[in-house]
Amino acid sequence: MLNILAKGLVIVGVCILGFALIPVRQLIAQLPPGSMRRRWYVLTALIFLFIVGYLGFAVTFWSQQTTWPDIVVPSIFFLGAGFVWLTVTLSLQTAADLGRLLLLEHENITDPVVGIFNRRYLNRRLDEESARARRYNLPLAVLLIDIDRFKLINDTYGHQVGDVVLNNLGDLLLQAIRPSDIAARYGGEEMFIIAPNTTSDSAGVLAERIRQHIEAHRFIVMEESDKTQEISITVSIGVASRSQKTTDSRLLINNADEALYCAKREGRNRVVTYSDIGRKFASKVK
Ligand code: GH3
Ligand code: MG
Ligand code: MG
Repeated sequence: MLNILAKGLVIVGVCILGFALIPVRQLIAQLPPGSMRRRWYVLTALIFLFIVGYLGFAVTFWSQQTTWPDIVVPSIFFLGAGFVWLTVTLSLQTAADLGRLLLLEHENITDPVVGIFNRRYLNRRLDEESARARRYNLPLAVLLIDIDRFKLINDTYGHQVGDVVLNNLGDLLLQAIRPSDIAARYGGEEMFIIAPNTTSDSAGVLAERIRQHIEAHRFIVMEESDKTQEISITVSIGVASRSQKTTDSRLLINNADEALYCAKREGRNRVVTYSDIGRKFASKVK
């Protein structure tokens, strides 16, 4: 009877270890190549070694007479297998939970139509970047981009085509900016770019590059009649930057908005920098 119990504990332990390889395989499949994946391969090899060790033990003691103290080692083997099983299944569960959390976080800060960051994330990052620029006395610039006569695109081709244009615009903006810049949807067809460590002049150059890039692009869209159509759009951009007087992020947005308004008033499809507005006005007065 004791003999059967001892062998049973070892055999069940082997089965548990074998089943533990399933979640390990699932985990490895989710991991990108790298050191983490290699470590899980090492763990797989260890589990195989354990299985061989368990089987070797069972074979050695198969025909031996078993007493109560002899049950201790098979019990430890059994509990060890349980420990491995619990560890790998919990790891798999934790990886799945983390994946869900990352997805939620991504959805929480991304605009679904344009595919860039949303207003919530923009506000948070602008406050953070303003505080950083203030503390280390670094330049900081922002761009407010508005599509010219976008209502006409919606009216002519339909709202869905308008959405496709917005989505493609998001891609174009991501291509045009540096990895350290942040592109977000400010609202409707207005996009916002935070350019940390960027002077007003450099931001003006960036804005002009974006404007030209968008003007030259042909958006391929599908009309309701299933016919593809090439659409081109232009944008107006207001640029503002941090100065001694403009340290607050709300004021930065207001200045960019004022510059954008100026760009619209001056005929659209252009870049206006807030610091130039006063200068232009002064030269007109002269
Ligand atoms: P302008 O800026 O040059 O003065 O003209 P506009 O026609 O672009 O002006 P306005 O800002 O008044 O219009 C914005 C339009 O953007 C109105 C709205 O229907 C459209 N819009 C806003 N959000 C979305 C969206 O998510 N999808 C689509 N398709 N259209 C949108
Ligand atoms: Mg517009
Ligand atoms: Mg607008």
